[in-house]
Amino acid sequence: MTYFDGLRLSNFKTLMIKFFIRLLYKISLRMEYIYKIKPLNLRDIMAKKIAIIGAGAAGFMCAIEAGKKGHDVHLYDHAKKPGEKIRISGGGRSNFTNKNCTHHNFISQNPHFCKSALSRYPAQSFVSLVEEYEIAYHEKNPDKQTGQFFCDGKSQEIIDMLLSECHAHHVKIYLETGVDTLDKIDEEFHLKIKGENQVFDAVVIATGGPSIPKMGASDWGHKIAKQFGHEIIDLQPALVPLTFTDETLDFTKSLSGVSIDSVLIRNKTNQKTTQFTDDLLFTHRGLSGPTVLQISSYWDAGDELHVNLLPTKDLEAEFLSAKKSNPKTKITKFMSQYLPARFIHEIFDRHMSDADKEKNLSDFSKLSFEMLNQYIQHWTFKPNGSEGYRTAEVTRGGVNVNQIDAKSFESKLASGLYFIGEVVDVTGHLGGHNFQWAWASGFCCGQDL
Ligand SMILES: Cc1cc2nc3c(=O)[nH]c(=O)nc-3n(C[C@H](O)[C@H](O)[C@H](O)COP(=O)(O)OP(=O)(O)OC[C@H]3O[C@@H](n4cnc5c(N)ncnc54)[C@H](O)[C@@H]3O)c2cc1C
Repeated sequence: MTYFDGLRLSNFKTLMIKFFIRLLYKISLRMEYIYKIKPLNLRDIMAKKIAIIGAGAAGFMCAIEAGKKGHDVHLYDHAKKPGEKIRISGGGRSNFTNKNCTHHNFISQNPHFCKSALSRYPAQSFVSLVEEYEIAYHEKNPDKQTGQFFCDGKSQEIIDMLLSECHAHHVKIYLETGVDTLDKIDEEFHLKIKGENQVFDAVVIATGGPSIPKMGASDWGHKIAKQFGHEIIDLQPALVPLTFTDETLDFTKSLSGVSIDSVLIRNKTNQKTTQFTDDLLFTHRGLSGPTVLQISSYWDAGDELHVNLLPTKDLEAEFLSAKKSNPKTKITKFMSQYLPARFIHEIFDRHMSDADKEKNLSDFSKLSFEMLNQYIQHWTFKPNGSEGYRTAEVTRGGVNVNQIDAKSFESKLASGLYFIGEVVDVTGHLGGHNFQWAWASGFCCGQDL
């Protein structure tokens, strides 16, 4: 039992002690405000009344840590249920972290910002918590060293674990409760909640980004940040399927449902080249699958993408060798050992002649093969957009991290105001990195409150 747990006893004596300590604390805050000095170090030892807005991954973690310190923690969410994105994540099994997570897995205007939190709360720390609760989990494709950890059962187990931790540390959770207004008067925060004015010592914004609005997502946190003078790095849907309007759409529609393993996709702009290798999926709207979702986070309107469907093969050399060893093999049969037959037939129907389709390798010229290979190893296309926030797993951009303290997550413009999780300009790659960021930023903020 901590010192502050002791203060929770509801007898009269305890209430009086609490009242006087609180009074002393308020006086110390006043002194600090007027004289810019800390005459009593009460701020660091005193339980604060804290509002955390957003009961998602980051808000939960922050609430638990702040609760452990004995603070009076109030966690608000306007949704009916907490942690909805955790519930739907990883196809219902939550890819809750990634053991290989480093700052290289994030996009931000300041790529160094996330280093401190990730080292203070690495993936293993969350895994230890999961193990403490005996939640069964596994690594996806350990042979490929993905580092992605998923629940064996349902992701609800993670939510239940977080709720149980909140309960153990006396966090008060309010659902279907949004915050109408938030103002700072002197050193206090005045929040209008369900028409009532409530006063807090500190406020943590953990409202995530606007992706998947039907899950309760909003840009409320960004509006509050702006209200306090913060710059918002442009918000964009990220980890999102890409769409087309031209003949590529017709092509992807006809292949809807077909997927190809280990496809390399590259975005080469004047400034930099980014590439990912993972699976690709054709859909009736365009392209999806992990490799497309990853590159979408680096894609800006107008960028052309370069695709190699067989990045580990020297296909032209293999064609020339097979032409010698198996000249009677049909070209379509030869190609079908590398790629789905439906894909090969679609490429032949669209880009080669009827006669080519029927040819044996011996009759298929090197020139024709180079033409065919344009659509396999040198395919380029220009998406017209993305499926947007409706399906985006995350939001790129957010509150400019240069205006936030990397250790405590406190605003540099408004003391006592904090921003954590996806609402800030830190966007993770696919594979559990976004949750790792939410846990790590929430943990560090909660520890520093
Ligand atoms: C379909 C899908 C699958 C995903 N799968 C994975 C995965 O497997 N692994 C991974 O690492 N990441 C995954 N992500 C991303 C991950 O869910 C987010 O990065 C993460 O949830 C961000 O945590 P957060 O706490 O910052 O925000 P959120 O989890 O979005 O939580 C924000 C909370 O704030 C509440 N809120 C918003 N506005 C207000 C308001 N005005 N007032 C009160 N409450 C408000 C919301 O209701 C929500 O509960 C997935 C995302 C989606 C959409």
